[in-house]
Amino acid sequence: MKAVLFDLDDTLLDRNASIKQFITAQYGRLLHHLNHIPQSDYVARFIELDCHGHVWKDRVYQDLVTEFAIENIAWQALLEDYETQFQFYCMPFQFLTETLSQLKQQGYLLGIVTNGRGQIQNRSIDGLGIRDYVDAILISEIEQVRKPEPEIFRRAAQRLDVAVQDSVFIGDNPEADILGAKRVGMKTIWKRDSYWLETTDADAIIDELNEIPSILEQFNYVIEGTVQ
Ligand SMILES: [Mg+2]
Repeated sequence: MKAVLFDLDDTLLDRNASIKQFITAQYGRLLHHLNHIPQSDYVARFIELDCHGHVWKDRVYQDLVTEFAIENIAWQALLEDYETQFQFYCMPFQFLTETLSQLKQQGYLLGIVTNGRGQIQNRSIDGLGIRDYVDAILISEIEQVRKPEPEIFRRAAQRLDVAVQDSVFIGDNPEADILGAKRVGMKTIWKRDSYWLETTDADAIIDELNEIPSILEQFNYVIEGTVQ
């Protein structure tokens, strides 16, 4: 194995915790426009409409404005607050920088392959402070191709100048991450997430990021054994 590729949301970024922190703070920041809505209602409805990040925020804020009859601030202004402020509430999963640092020291090339908008995903990466650890970043809006399409996985390997067979993909989404990467010939590690049904397609399963180095050792060991 030469390269380790990661999904971003719910794999490196603890998105649930980050979103909750952000939206609670947004309510406080814009309270004079939102004080006719109970804070808990605003927070809970945003999280519902966001649908684990699967709905783009322009849609979410348009719905919020309609449902809560928000009158003196436009959805575009709420969206702009999200776009500029979310990065300051980005929370990593435990062991994030330790793990990336260890993998780099062991000589692996690292990459991020994420579905989403370029500016937001780039800012989340900066919010986590991990840009210096990664050798390639592929964001679907910029690449014009999304996981699970094979092209985005192949392109990631190409950009790191490694073969797909020498690459491991780690993600939480059984379809977009695990099946997508597996179909092009990458090894896969599923980061268990209770939002999804348990997948049987991955080569390994982890609960915490610091389990990755020992799994890579196992992959390398099995491959060496096969060659001999
Ligand atoms: Mg994800």
